[in-house]
Amino acid sequence: MRILKIQTLRGPNYWSIRRHKLIVMRLDLETLTETPSNEIPGFYEGLVEALPSLEGHYCSPGCRGGFLMRVKEGTMMGHIVEHVALELQELAGMHVGFGRTRETATPGIFQVVIEYLNEEAGRYAGRAAVRLCQSIVDRGRYPKAELEQDIQDLKDFSRDASLGPSTEAIVKEAEKRGIPWMPLEARFLIQLGYGVNQKRMQATMTDNTGILGVELACDKEATKRILAAAGAPVPRGTVINFLDDLQEAIEYVGGYPIVIKPLDGNHGRGITIDIRSWEEAEAAYEAARQVSRSIIVERYYVGRDHRVLVVNGKVVAVAERVPAHVIGNGRSTIAELIEETNLDPNRGEGHDNVLTKIELDRTSYQLLERQGYTLNSVPPKGTICYLRATANLSTGGSAVDRTDEIHPENLWMAQRVVKIIGLDIAGLDIVTSDISRPLREMDGVIVEVNAAPGFRMHVAPSQGIPRNVAGAVMDMLFPNEQSSQIPILSVTGTNGKTTTTRLLAHIYKQTGKVVGYTTTDGTYIGDYLVEAGDNTGPQSAHVILQDPTVEVAVLETARGGILRSGLGFEAANVGVVLNIAADHLGIGDIDTIDQLANLKSVVAEAVFPDGYAVLNADDRRVAAMSEKTKANIAYFTMNPDSELVHKHIQKGGVAAVYENGYLSIVKGDWTHRIERAEQIPITMGGRAPFMIANALAASLAAFVQNVTIEQIRAGLKSFRASVSQTPGRMNLFNLGNYHALVDYAHNPASYEAVGAFVRNWTTGVRIGVVGGPGDRRDEDFVTLGKLAAQIFNYIIIKEDDDTRGRPRGSAAELITQGITQVKSDCRYESILDETQAINKALDMAPDNSLVVILPESVTRAIKLIRLRGLVKEEILQQ
Ligand code: ATP
Ligand code: ATP
Ligand code: MG
Ligand code: MG
Repeated sequence: MRILKIQTLRGPNYWSIRRHKLIVMRLDLETLTETPSNEIPGFYEGLVEALPSLEGHYCSPGCRGGFLMRVKEGTMMGHIVEHVALELQELAGMHVGFGRTRETATPGIFQVVIEYLNEEAGRYAGRAAVRLCQSIVDRGRYPKAELEQDIQDLKDFSRDASLGPSTEAIVKEAEKRGIPWMPLEARFLIQLGYGVNQKRMQATMTDNTGILGVELACDKEATKRILAAAGAPVPRGTVINFLDDLQEAIEYVGGYPIVIKPLDGNHGRGITIDIRSWEEAEAAYEAARQVSRSIIVERYYVGRDHRVLVVNGKVVAVAERVPAHVIGNGRSTIAELIEETNLDPNRGEGHDNVLTKIELDRTSYQLLERQGYTLNSVPPKGTICYLRATANLSTGGSAVDRTDEIHPENLWMAQRVVKIIGLDIAGLDIVTSDISRPLREMDGVIVEVNAAPGFRMHVAPSQGIPRNVAGAVMDMLFPNEQSSQIPILSVTGTNGKTTTTRLLAHIYKQTGKVVGYTTTDGTYIGDYLVEAGDNTGPQSAHVILQDPTVEVAVLETARGGILRSGLGFEAANVGVVLNIAADHLGIGDIDTIDQLANLKSVVAEAVFPDGYAVLNADDRRVAAMSEKTKANIAYFTMNPDSELVHKHIQKGGVAAVYENGYLSIVKGDWTHRIERAEQIPITMGGRAPFMIANALAASLAAFVQNVTIEQIRAGLKSFRASVSQTPGRMNLFNLGNYHALVDYAHNPASYEAVGAFVRNWTTGVRIGVVGGPGDRRDEDFVTLGKLAAQIFNYIIIKEDDDTRGRPRGSAAELITQGITQVKSDCRYESILDETQAINKALDMAPDNSLVVILPESVTRAIKLIRLRGLVKEEILQQ
């Protein structure tokens, strides 16, 4: 077996609309092509021995053991690899269930699709599954040690990629609310929502979090001063920079017991509390000095440690933090009890799990001593033995939810204090012996205000009710269900995507909104080009969706991107499918036109249920997509008598129809005429039917998004098939005595479309300069030749500079075959070099003729035309 290719899908895709995270492995079974599993001696036994838990896979029999039954009876290796890859992830704690295996058109080559939670783990699981199966085929077994290593590696991938508990809580809540999110390129920034409606977070800071508030909170001394001035209870204390000042500071705070901590520390680093002697104080000073130059000396307040979380002016959770401790069982030593406690799977390193492993430090031994223990003592059953003085979770502490217990006065105080500091999300550290009584009464104090507080202790307390604090953050960022989204209009089809996308973006601009759009030529925002290039995949979609100025996204969505990595968004508001025709067949295991339709159908299916699939009623494969999508349907048609559309309208549907020379929206009993086709420049005076179809699609997509008929009309009338607005799409040039048309048609359907216009050129001779991309099938070139013979009076056959792997001359030869099959007396010649071919055609053009150039390079073709001197770009109108 050999893996030929591994692809990672991240959005709605060919295999599933709902499951976005899929690995697609192209697998060559090589010698196993003809051998199902039952014919491989010892395979079943070896597989069961290596992965007994495969018993849990139901597979097609639909019961426990179903999959293993199929292995026993005989199934293809690709299918087995699929199940093994899923099971390996399962064993590493990543729950995945979706898989598919299909044979491609090439015998022995399979596509194995497996779900993943973590990309790298998914790819690794695919490779490991192949290794495992191959080993069982070759040797009858897979070594246990290797399996364990695989599972460990998978776990490591998963851990390394995890977001941290607070961010995890936030993105989970976002997903629950249907708010899209994505990680940005740097600084662990997370984007929630799209375009102009996006918000950003970094850990638990939001783009509402002010820098002044954060800096104030980080300066413990300044915080205390501001709060003291406002009458809030804070520890009595002072800041020193020299050991010489320590004695005086201790006296100032009222003598022992005291606390010493670094001025700008966190996570409990460098803090010593409950200091009762000069020796301890000196040692504590040194420890704090390791973290910060300036040192805080404070009175020690007896009490329990609480974290009060305030979000958007309201207390949303209160937790009591209990310092790391063990409870005696009368048998084990403290050292043993610690070891046992740390075995808890909930305890991880740092912040990566619900709890953190207990580690001892300098203060631990002192604390033990004060309690009369050493590490070797055996504490009596039930006694609590504290191991750390401070209760930070990151030093092994645990949390008890107290949200329902806090006294209203403390609630008021916490909310007021956070306002004074100026934070939208803050965690207050409050020391008091009872949070259910006013701080005033208990001599309680606010020790600190934390910016970017952790959520871990609230969403997963060791005791008490978990609190949905991330929900409060979402309520703040997206109040009143304010939309986090922007309208997304996604356009696909075999031909006309770029034209329709540009036209739709132009129509939408009439609303005054900032439109971001992507096409085969580049990515644009408003009137400006962001980036040139073939930008029809998910990455370009992200450029638009991440842009904070964009109010509407119009995305040309080509097959390549869908196939390679899926859509770049979960669902669109409008999904437009223009047409399905033979093009690119045989590439990427899409071999038939129906497979191509299934692929493009992703755009119609990945639409919100209250959104619209805009479908071409005249193309049966496109019209059939109405069965597959849950969205509303809107049809466009060139045929005013279309039965499908009539029925649809009768049932209350909406459609765009070309009727009596008008582009019209039909809804219910009413026909809204937008404009006469001949008044719409892109239709070339109504003479290019396919452009009318594109304009209908764009108008309809805008209409279902509540763009007004007036705005649509204004858009249609001001959009020109000019070199600047749609380079390479029906650009017509007036060269004085004759005309030249540059168009990017490169498959039979688009040749036919252009042909429909060219045939209307009755004033003179029609000369064609034709060719096609080398990666198309042989028969496609023959078809091109046939079509050309029907359209032109004279044909010059050329080839692309880049023949995409095809031997030079071969495409031209096939086109010639097509030409002569249709019209044996057709006048043609082959000039493989595109520049020479174009020049020849322009040189020979007689008066009143039309030279139609279907070039590889549009820019070069236009340049060659302009070199001919005074050229007028022409917009045909009535
Ligand atoms: P974190 O960032 O995790 O909140 P930190 O390093 O910023 O911790 P503080 O919050 O200032 O440090 O102190 C840590 C803990 O030490 C407090 O939560 C509290 O339990 C205890 N503590 C600090 N100062 C005092 C004090 N003056 N009296 C009593 N306990 C104190
Ligand atoms: P690509 O796959 O190269 O991105 P596209 O789908 O974006 O192509 P356009 O660039 O808009 O299509 O148009 C390319 C050519 O296809 C046009 O110049 C025209 O010849 C032809 N074409 C445009 N619209 C249609 C249509 N609705 N039906 C058939 N052919 C069309
Ligand atoms: Mg603190
Ligand atoms: Mg395009």
